[in-house]
Amino acid sequence: MATNVSPYSNVEDDPFGDVRENVENPMKRLFFGYGRRYRLAFFVGLIGSIFSRLLDLMPPLILGIAIDTVLTGDQELYEALPLLAENQLPVTEEGQLLFLLVALGSSFVFAAFFHYWRNWGFNLFAQNVQHDVRTDTYERLQQLDLGFFADKQTGELMSVMSNDVNQLETFLNDGMNSSFRLGVMVLGIGAILFWINWQLALIALLPVPLIAFFTYFFVKAIQPRYAKMRASVGKLNSRLENNLGGIEVIKAFTAEKYESSRVVQSSRDYFDTNWEAVKIRIKFFPAIRLLAGLGFVVTFTVGSFWVLTGEAPGPLTGTLMVGQFVTFILYTQQFVWPVAQFGEIINMYQRAKASTERIFGLMDEEPAIDNGNEKLSVSKGFVEYKDVSFSYNEGESVLDGIDFDVKPGNTVALVGPTGAGKTTTARLLPRFYRPDSGEIRVDGQDISSVSVEGLRDNIGYVGQTSFLFSGTIKDNIAYGEREASYDEVVEAAKKAEAHEFIKDLPHGYDTEVGERGVKLSGGQRQRITIARTILKDPKILIFDEATSDVDTETEKKIQKSIQRLTEDKTTLAIAHRLSTIRSADKILVMENGRIIESGSHEELLKKENKYYRLWNAQIEDAS
Ligand code: ADP
Repeated sequence: MATNVSPYSNVEDDPFGDVRENVENPMKRLFFGYGRRYRLAFFVGLIGSIFSRLLDLMPPLILGIAIDTVLTGDQELYEALPLLAENQLPVTEEGQLLFLLVALGSSFVFAAFFHYWRNWGFNLFAQNVQHDVRTDTYERLQQLDLGFFADKQTGELMSVMSNDVNQLETFLNDGMNSSFRLGVMVLGIGAILFWINWQLALIALLPVPLIAFFTYFFVKAIQPRYAKMRASVGKLNSRLENNLGGIEVIKAFTAEKYESSRVVQSSRDYFDTNWEAVKIRIKFFPAIRLLAGLGFVVTFTVGSFWVLTGEAPGPLTGTLMVGQFVTFILYTQQFVWPVAQFGEIINMYQRAKASTERIFGLMDEEPAIDNGNEKLSVSKGFVEYKDVSFSYNEGESVLDGIDFDVKPGNTVALVGPTGAGKTTTARLLPRFYRPDSGEIRVDGQDISSVSVEGLRDNIGYVGQTSFLFSGTIKDNIAYGEREASYDEVVEAAKKAEAHEFIKDLPHGYDTEVGERGVKLSGGQRQRITIARTILKDPKILIFDEATSDVDTETEKKIQKSIQRLTEDKTTLAIAHRLSTIRSADKILVMENGRIIESGSHEELLKKENKYYRLWNAQIEDAS
């Protein structure tokens, strides 16, 4: 119903808007792609659901039969139970009553049994699908290149993987449950009512087409609002995530008020989009109940006159017994709720669909860098950049004709003003990005034709920020070599000049670091990341010098650890303090995405050009 409405046409600021539009049949994919694996659980839930609901229908029926056969004697028991032969039923009134009471009790017992299996099946199904979807999305996300993350907010991605995925559970469990209940109730009650008295049944079911009609318009109106709502949840999450991450800056700039007002704004936007949906929802449900209620009143009026006068009112014909009337009234009561829930089911479905589209949209993101199939074989670690040009965004050239090589075991340093393209040059080597033109080679092999995994296995990357994961120091050092022994970890830490401070920590190498663990200084963190790379022992190394100021003592230690790290490795170093790369085999001076000078420290000084000026400026600064 109404699935042809595109709910997203005017959600231009939803970061997933464009990808979602390309997701075809998301719900089909969810059920057949993911649900298929858990079809056993699904069928147990389905059978449980159908039988428990059928058993739920028994009490009103038995009650009506008891009234008409035993209490008023208007009908013979075998007439009311066409499935059983007369000689199979008790003859005395007490016997018949007992028979019906046992049937009533059994219906409750069996209903409980089937309710259990219904819940077991649907919950297991929902949990499993949810789990698979979440882990698959994460796995997919990890494959995407850095360019993808550069223009997405972490909070938005988080909101897809938590809120949207959780939304699926509501639908897969409660939604499924309600739909089958609705199906069984409508078909079951409808059938019984028609069987008892088809004329009164027509009157009782009068509201159903009206409810369906209303629901259609409800869905049309609510769909786009849910899509907007999901997008604003993502934005709110981003804001919060961003602010908690930057709490230090907020405090330092006493920007609490400003940030509070921004959070209020985001939360307000969420409130508003949510309220747009609420406004419609709160009108819809009472309206449905009203319709169902009016139907009930009409049924009651017609039925009670029928029983009271003993004659069919108006154009109706036949008789209506008291017990039948009681069954009718009880059923129409039971009927109201599932039918009113019809809208809620559609509602859940729509929400789940919006979420599923966001999830699959994320899953369908293509990694821009396709994987080569050859395995890189690195023997010496000879790195060559051949006339490499690159831009992050089309038309804005960031690197232009970069051409140099790093001989095996040598160190080449990139220097120059900020924004010159040093980091970008380095990022191309592990193929975080792909050159627009030109070629990068390792031991003669074009890196665009080898597998990314093999390439990165051979490259060590020590970035400016020393990121530690939550876990122990040992785990952090052994991050790239998880099989490493304790001794190997200690060995690496010693080379990185980190052993001294680690052994003084409360639990030594088993001390927890990261968000919930001990806090380490910038210099300490840096040495742990250096130890991590020493342990990995790659042939090629990219080293982005941290700009953070550390004391001279620490600086010396770091220098020493870097020397050990780079000793026999082909190294591409990005230097901010020229003093640290004086001994590099070659220095490349970059400006505006080009190499403007190259040579050793002494050669470059002699040229008295750009490098000479940079050097003198730093010397002056230092003194
Ligand atoms: P450096 O390391 O020399 O300071 P970068 O390589 O970081 O220089 O940056 C070179 C240019 O590329 C700068 O103009 C910068 O704004 C731009 N840039 C860097 N990273 C990105 C990115 N992820 N997306 C778009 N532009 C970027």
